[in-house]
Amino acid sequence: MKITFIKPGMGEKKSYDAMEPLVFAILKAITPKEHEVILYDDRLEEIPYDEITNLVAITVETFTAKRAYAIAFQFRKRKIPVIMGGFHPTMVPSEAIQYCDSIVIQDAENLWPNILDDVVNHRLQKIYKNDNLPPLDNIIPDRSIFVGKKYKNLHLIQFSRGCKYACDFCSISSFYGKSLRFRPVQDVLLEIKNLKFNNLLFVDDNIFSNRTLMKELLIALIPLKKRWICQISIDVARDDEILSLMKQSGCLACIIGLESLREQNLVQMKKKWNHQIEYSKAIKHINNYEIMVLGTFVLGYDFDDITSFDEILKFSIKNKLFLAHFNPLSPTPGTPLFDRLKSENRLINDPWWLNDNYKYGKAMFKPAKLSSEQFEQACFENRKQFNSLSSIIFRLFNKAHLTSFANFYFFLGANFITRKAIRFKQGLSLGKQE
Ligand code: SF4
Repeated sequence: MKITFIKPGMGEKKSYDAMEPLVFAILKAITPKEHEVILYDDRLEEIPYDEITNLVAITVETFTAKRAYAIAFQFRKRKIPVIMGGFHPTMVPSEAIQYCDSIVIQDAENLWPNILDDVVNHRLQKIYKNDNLPPLDNIIPDRSIFVGKKYKNLHLIQFSRGCKYACDFCSISSFYGKSLRFRPVQDVLLEIKNLKFNNLLFVDDNIFSNRTLMKELLIALIPLKKRWICQISIDVARDDEILSLMKQSGCLACIIGLESLREQNLVQMKKKWNHQIEYSKAIKHINNYEIMVLGTFVLGYDFDDITSFDEILKFSIKNKLFLAHFNPLSPTPGTPLFDRLKSENRLINDPWWLNDNYKYGKAMFKPAKLSSEQFEQACFENRKQFNSLSSIIFRLFNKAHLTSFANFYFFLGANFITRKAIRFKQGLSLGKQE
């Protein structure tokens, strides 16, 4: 049997900074050898709908749902069964199943061999669901599926799934609940040793979810001499031993969800614990270990008014963040935030991910203390000003950004890519039709 994996894009434009879709390397690794497997990445290339195949498997996030449904339509028109998995079908299965033949709810790894058996025997079921989330051991992603694709020279690695916290806007806790699972360190090392590039991005939602296991990983990473980036919670700033090991094992930068400078917002989003640490001190402390900090903010919680945007912008520049993401609050289905805004009748263009009026950067909800237009404009302005040339030059002069050629190069590269992305994405329509 031939299986076609599809990674859908978000809109009309092809991507210039796509990263490898790790999920398909994982699925390839557990696909029995008798099956042929091919990947088409809609962000980089055209999809050959008329190529012969027996099954199409699409990974779907909320921002790519509309495009995924359009792609599925083309294959189903040609009588090819389509299965969807990922965050979006898990969060809104009743919607996703209308656009395909089968969906996988939550992780697919332990279900995948049975699904393939069912396809071969013409008994594909509508819904596959895990009763228990599978362990993550004994799977080494097979990246042969990426050969010939123009991805960034950075490998995505996963050590764990889940997060110890449960912020109300975040799909991670809605998807995984309280479960935290880790790969054996030996599996991660085996994978890393065979990689082509030296640059790694740990895609774990919070790599600091288990201190003991993280320490074990960091010690094992040191001899490999890689450079890496991760997502981590701000409480790591209190842990000098972990910060020192991060530095020794090649950590260049970490992505930290700072979210808001207003305590009431953090309380509302169930992230009050963030505020127990003073942000400026934490950033400086991490920078002292020559690790750069990318701060992410969520703008639009109920205690934000028009002055919040300027406060956050000034804070991000003054503290010389390596990068800052000013994310307009995005109510994702399945999260407590989405349910609250829906019950308050504050969603705009609901469901925004399928609505032709929604464009990237537009408000998806009515903010409490400012108009939707003010909100959209302020988010865009923050992005533009933070990524202006004068801001980039000012922020460059931070010890952590100039400590080595690798940091310097990465700082400049990432800042100029982000600068380009601002206009590329703003106003983008979701879901190109064929
Ligand atoms: S700390 Fe980050 S990953 Fe964890 S629940 Fe909050 S936003 Fe999600």
